[in-house]
Amino acid sequence: MNNYYEASLPSRASWPRLDGDVHVDVAIVGCGITGVATAVELAERGYQVALLDANTVGWGATGRNGGQVTGSLSVEN
Ligand SMILES: Cc1cc2nc3c(=O)[nH]c(=O)nc-3n(C[C@H](O)[C@H](O)[C@H](O)COP(=O)(O)OP(=O)(O)OC[C@H]3O[C@@H](n4cnc5c(N)ncnc54)[C@H](O)[C@@H]3O)c2cc1C
Repeated sequence: MNNYYEASLPSRASWPRLDGDVHVDVAIVGCGITGVATAVELAERGYQVALLDANTVGWGATGRNGGQVTGSLSVEN
């Protein structure tokens, strides 16, 4: 990955590779905003969550977007 968000990180986090079986309440595939937000919500409710990605956190659209927050695209007027 080569984008602004990664380039401006103070340090690069490393994530363990899944090795063998894990037993959790919910397994989430995809560490974009959708997967990470879902994992946080579930973990805060006491669920054991595994968050998996073929690449790394923020590799997809989440790490490449323009960062614009607007209701105009999703709220019906
Ligand atoms: C150029 C661009 C600009 C944008 N600008 C904005 C904006 O300004 N404002 C806004 O609100 N939205 C914007 N968006 C949209 C927004 O970025 C996306 O809607 C959002 O990031 C999608 O998040 P996601 O978690 O669903 O998917 P992603 O962030 O794409 O994450 C999906 C993850 O799943 C992983 N994955 C996929 N398949 C597998 C598999 N089989 N096994 C394991 N892992 C897998 C990928 O590696 C990836 O990390 C933009 C998008 C783009 C591309």
